[in-house]
Amino acid sequence: MNVGVLALQGDFREHADVLRTLGANVTLVRRPVELEAVDGLVIPGGESSVMDKLARTFGLAEPLRAAIRGGLPVYGTCAGLIMLADTVLDVIVGQQSLGGLDVVVRRNAFGSQTQSFETDLDIPALGTDPVHAVFIRGPVVESVGPRATALATLDDGRVVAVEQGNLLGTSFHPEITGEHRFHEYFLSKVRARTLAA
Ligand code: GLN
Repeated sequence: MNVGVLALQGDFREHADVLRTLGANVTLVRRPVELEAVDGLVIPGGESSVMDKLARTFGLAEPLRAAIRGGLPVYGTCAGLIMLADTVLDVIVGQQSLGGLDVVVRRNAFGSQTQSFETDLDIPALGTDPVHAVFIRGPVVESVGPRATALATLDDGRVVAVEQGNLLGTSFHPEITGEHRFHEYFLSKVRARTLAA
């Protein structure tokens, strides 16, 4: 399996390490030609407004949108979830997302860097063991449209992980905690699509 990690900005190295540990061939994607060669894509955490600017500057934004529309499995963490959301609140002026996920997310919903926190989440789709989740200036999913499904919520009911067909998004960062089940779940989507092709 040839899996891409969008490497414009953010913690793409951590994602690449997890994916390699799980046996994937990893391509760092910075150009459209690299995107064309992958069977799935991870969009890392970082800063969504910067990622958006770089994606447009490097001519990647439209190819990414086309790939998402075409059914490429894509997993976004934190800023990556923001990039995948159809609607983003509290954007920097002019900031655009790629879209695909039928959700509304709010950037920096939990406050500043100093208000980062960790918690355990029950995520039935990933098994019975709780998922340890680290939130670093993460977004919250304020509403989940009819085409998307919530996978995880905080105790107060706020949604922090969503799925829609081949798209997966988390407000938190499994790539830095040794939690591999989201990446495995994503790779199972990549595998299924590759086999079907
Ligand atoms: N606050 C960042 C943004 O708006 C996301 C933070 C993260 O990816 N850890 O893009």
